[in-house]
Amino acid sequence: MEEDLRRKAVLTLGGAVSLPEGYVLPCRVSHSTAGPGAGSGSAVFAFGRFRVKKTITYGEGEFQLVVDEKGRLSMTRKGKPFMRRVRIEPVVRHAPEQAFFNLDPRCMYRCAYCTSPLLDPSEDKHLSVDRIMDMLEESMLLHDVKCVSFTSGVVGSVDETVDRFVEAVRAVRERYPDMPIGVEPYVSSREHIQRLKDAGADEIKINLETPRRDLFAKACPDLDYDAVMDLLRDAVDIFGRGNVVSNIIYGMGETDADLDIIMERLCRMGVLPGLRALRVNEMNKQRLIDAGIRWTKITPQKAVDLAEMQMAAMKRHGLTTENCRTMCFACRCCDIVPFIDIRE
Ligand code: SF4
Ligand code: SF4
Repeated sequence: MEEDLRRKAVLTLGGAVSLPEGYVLPCRVSHSTAGPGAGSGSAVFAFGRFRVKKTITYGEGEFQLVVDEKGRLSMTRKGKPFMRRVRIEPVVRHAPEQAFFNLDPRCMYRCAYCTSPLLDPSEDKHLSVDRIMDMLEESMLLHDVKCVSFTSGVVGSVDETVDRFVEAVRAVRERYPDMPIGVEPYVSSREHIQRLKDAGADEIKINLETPRRDLFAKACPDLDYDAVMDLLRDAVDIFGRGNVVSNIIYGMGETDADLDIIMERLCRMGVLPGLRALRVNEMNKQRLIDAGIRWTKITPQKAVDLAEMQMAAMKRHGLTTENCRTMCFACRCCDIVPFIDIRE
């Protein structure tokens, strides 16, 4: 396996990066309310063609950022050399090169692995469209913003949540006609998907979350596996093949064969499967136990093997991540991305 790819897998799955005492990051610290680092300060570390977003700390961490006398950065792991050259990439909003907004981290559902609704209420970042547009304008002045993405928990009702997405997408589309826009909503009807497309979204992510119905029932007790599958079909009709993504979280007791079967099924439908390793932390651990989920330890080798399986499924159906312009495949910070991190 390519050395830097192995390092990306180790870094992605590992613990926090500790910064030298008194070291000030050359860019703003990201405080996310969604994704694997939700609730913590984080920064993006890049090396070669790879990048990884990591929780940062001035205390103990599995990885240590080292700054030499000329200001050059490297990284050690448990005190041993790990990466000779590291760069820190600026985060626009949550992700490098993209303004990714969480419209509301609260959620009326109870997915066992999800930490967004558990964040301290003081971190509530319910965003109005005016506030989003102000933040986006500010970001455009400071950075080369390549895309805008939206996610959200479900607050009030699914209809109301979709309304908020539509309003935000429409406002961005009106102001920036050429900006790629990605949405990661929870939807419950074909009409919801059509409204998001009509408002100006280019890419949509509707998450299946697990490869099997029985695991889904444990992990997402309020949601409906078959409904998500049907909505993914509708999404491909409306957004087109390759413009629809569905996240699958692995490490919750499924087999590799389960993942292979579901990825083949999604790709045959024209949906890009996004693989994400389950991250167990102090916020979701008890909920996972209570839900009866028996997680497995994910090794770097497993993460790479599964990404190769994911790439093979996409290739069999003429799909690629290379055309994705928004959300996680464009960001590449939390997972091993086929066709970009892994090359043919
Ligand atoms: S629907 Fe589930 S995964 Fe999405 S924000 Fe709500 S609890 Fe989290
Ligand atoms: S890969 Fe996705 S979840 Fe991770 S930082 Fe990027 S946009 Fe956020």
